[in-house]
Amino acid sequence: MPRDYYEVLGVSKDATPDEIKKAYRSLARKYHPDVSSEAKEIAEEKFKEVSEAYEVLSDAEKRKLYDQYGHAGVDKQFGSDGFTWDDFTRYDDIRDIFGDMFGDMFGFGRRRQQSAAGPRTGESLRYDVEIDLADALADKEIDISYPRTRNCPECKGTGGKDGKSETCRNCGGQGRVQMVRNSMLGQMVQVVECPTCRGRGKTFEERCEKCHGSGRSSETTKMRIKIPAGITDGDRIKIPGGGDAGYNGGQSGDLYVVVHVKPKKGFERDGINLWTMVTTTYPRLVLGGEEDVKTLDEKTARLNIPPGTQVGAVLRIQGNGMPRRASPGVRGDLFVRVDIKVPKKVSGMEEELLRKLDESAGSKTTKKDKLKKKLGL
Ligand SMILES: [Zn+2]
Ligand SMILES: [Zn+2]
Repeated sequence: MPRDYYEVLGVSKDATPDEIKKAYRSLARKYHPDVSSEAKEIAEEKFKEVSEAYEVLSDAEKRKLYDQYGHAGVDKQFGSDGFTWDDFTRYDDIRDIFGDMFGDMFGFGRRRQQSAAGPRTGESLRYDVEIDLADALADKEIDISYPRTRNCPECKGTGGKDGKSETCRNCGGQGRVQMVRNSMLGQMVQVVECPTCRGRGKTFEERCEKCHGSGRSSETTKMRIKIPAGITDGDRIKIPGGGDAGYNGGQSGDLYVVVHVKPKKGFERDGINLWTMVTTTYPRLVLGGEEDVKTLDEKTARLNIPPGTQVGAVLRIQGNGMPRRASPGVRGDLFVRVDIKVPKKVSGMEEELLRKLDESAGSKTTKKDKLKKKLGL
């Protein structure tokens, strides 16, 4: 007798569809065999159990039947051997949870139809890191550590005690068997994973105690990786072979490090160029001069302000932008927007000078004034 579906998902009988979805999401993350820290066999079992509960409770009609009649109400929805992955219709949720990277490689259905006994590449994994914008100015090395599935060191991946195994008698080492299935369209012959060896083509008398016969174990992998200069937010770095171990001698999957670049206050990134701002004085804009500008790496660069520069003008400091990822020797520029700071209080002398300046500016006759005079207006 299967467990109560509500109990499996850890929700109350009157849980909303949202609560049910949430509960499934967190349990799927915990038990997905590709990410779970549990032994693969146990994780697979649990993952299937929560998926069955979700299949029923996420469907209003099935849930109604279940509420009314219990397991008897929904059992006939599934085949004669109960719920299997063929009955699961919520792959979209799993794709949502684990992202497309897993979604692509996901598919219990597909996996079982493949030649299970042949070498198969392991699952790819994703690792997210966050760096400061200034870290992207040069190559940066970081240490990461993450769990991944390796072949069990105790049994060398065979699943048998002390690594002892023999060719499966049920499938002759093929990992697949033909099965006749009754369906609405009559009898169908299907090739399925060999239930005796679980598709491995090998069996063992006593199973390995460390991995419970799965041949796989989870291990924390430490790695130093290089984040190349000029990396942009959302870029992925592929580490070939950094994913889970392959099956039956297949290659390991890959690791994808997704880099998030934190924005830096006061700077805006525009491709390989950076934008910032500087405040200066009115006389310096009129007469020209210099201003110190803080660069992204906390240094100062000298900005040359030409005479007659307008408020809001954009000036350029060459070579103080971001490096180009493809050719890190090339750096963009730092564009500086010029603003002025208007003092709220001035000294007596400053006030005197400013008044004189204002008088002189106001008494300047414009071309328009001259024209008006000429016309006698
Ligand atoms: Zn083992
Ligand atoms: Zn077999």
